Amino acid sequence: MDKLIITVAPTGEGAGKKDNPALPVTPAEIAEAVYDSWLAGAAVAHIHVRDDAGNPTMSTEKFSETVGMIRRKCDIVLNLTSSGDINAADDIRMAHLPLLKPDIASLDCGSMNWAYNELFINHPHFLEKLSIVMRDNGIMPEVEIFDTGMLDNAMHLVKKGLFTQPLHVQFVMGAAGGIPASIENLIYLIRQLPTGATWSAFGIGRHHIPIMAASMLLGGHVRVGFEDNIYYKKGVLASSNAQLVERAIRLAREFGRDVASAAEARAYFGLPRSLSHII
Ligand code: ZN
Repeated sequence: MDKLIITVAPTGEGAGKKDNPALPVTPAEIAEAVYDSWLAGAAVAHIHVRDDAGNPTMSTEKFSETVGMIRRKCDIVLNLTSSGDINAADDIRMAHLPLLKPDIASLDCGSMNWAYNELFINHPHFLEKLSIVMRDNGIMPEVEIFDTGMLDNAMHLVKKGLFTQPLHVQFVMGAAGGIPASIENLIYLIRQLPTGATWSAFGIGRHHIPIMAASMLLGGHVRVGFEDNIYYKKGVLASSNAQLVERAIRLAREFGRDVASAAEARAYFGLPRSLSHII
C-alpha cells in the first residue's frame, strides 16, 4: 500500500472554544497547532481561519497571516479551504488562492442542505470558475464529496479538462444531510472512483475512528482534527490536534502502514517543492 498521508484539519467552521478550549482560533494558535501536528507526523494541513471574534471568515488577510506563520515553521503541505464561510460570495471564496498559491485547496463538488437549517451552495458555474483558478495557479484540487452524486459533478469537471492532475478525493462521511458514515458506504464510494484516483476519508464526530481505521486498511488516506471531531473518545475532549495525529500514527503502525512525511506527500501528489522558509 502507499504510505499513509495524514491530513490535520485543526479549525473548521463549526466548533468554537466554548466547545473545546483547545481549539485554535487565531493565526498564531492555528500555526502552532499545525506545527505540533507536523512534528507528530501530519503531512498535510487543511486550513480554515476565524475573525477576531472567533467567527468563520474567508478573510484573505487572516489566511495570509496564518499561511505565513506556518510556512516559516515547517514544510507541511498546505491545503486551504474554499468553503470557510457559508455566507461568503463566490469571489471571496476564491480570493486567497491566487495570492497565496497553496499546494492544495478544497473544492466541494455539489450543493446540499447544511446541518438541517442552511444551504451550502456550490453552483456549477462556481465549481468551474474555482477549478480554473486552481488550474491556472498550479493548485491541486482536493475534491470533497459529501454524497455520491457529487462524484458525478467532479467527473464532469474532469471531462471538461479543468483538472490537470489525477482526481484526489476527500470523502466526508456523516455530515448532517450527507452520506451516512458506514464502512459499507465507504466501500461503495471507493468503487465509484475512476482509475488512477487517490482518496482520503473521515467520519464526523463519533464516526471518526471506524472510518479512519477502514481507510487505513483499504489503502486510502486519513484526516483528523478539530474541524471534524473535538473528542478523543466518548465524553472526553481531545487535548490538542496533535493528540489526534498521534493516535492515527499509532493505529497505522499497528496495521503495518508506513506514514508519509510532508515531502513524501508532495512527491506522491506530484506537487512542486515547498514554499516553506522562502516567504
Ligand atoms: Zn474544511
